[in-house]
Amino acid sequence: MMREENLDCIFCKIANGEIPSKLIGENEHAIAFLDLYPKAPVHILVVPKIHSENILLLDNSSILTGLFELIREVAATSTDGQFKLQFNTGEREGQSVFHTHAHVLSQQSK
Ligand code: 5GP
Ligand code: ZN
Repeated sequence: MMREENLDCIFCKIANGEIPSKLIGENEHAIAFLDLYPKAPVHILVVPKIHSENILLLDNSSILTGLFELIREVAATSTDGQFKLQFNTGEREGQSVFHTHAHVLSQQSK
């Protein structure tokens, strides 16, 4: 389901500035910020500004393009070019925040 905002969603609150974060980058459709509990030397989250629960429910091609443009930009500027890209989808597979997000993980910053 796509909605403008989910009032209880932590990443909606980060996207609209209600909760602070360490901003890494932004475009029309997405925002990138540091993960609060990093699991690698570089750990950035890239999230669409509009709420959707997971990548399967994000069916807007403009938003998908904006999301992947920001993922590529962040990976190019914040890592040495070697990184992991991960979308945990569903509780069993490790998703704990139910707002679509990509993890960009790398052992080496640029
Ligand atoms: P998931 O487990 O859903 O794939 O990823 C959620 C990620 O959000 C986790 O890596 C967790 O550390 C991060 N996280 C949870 N709460 C916050 C927060 O308030 N701020 C930031 N920047 N990251 C958070
Ligand atoms: Zn949300």
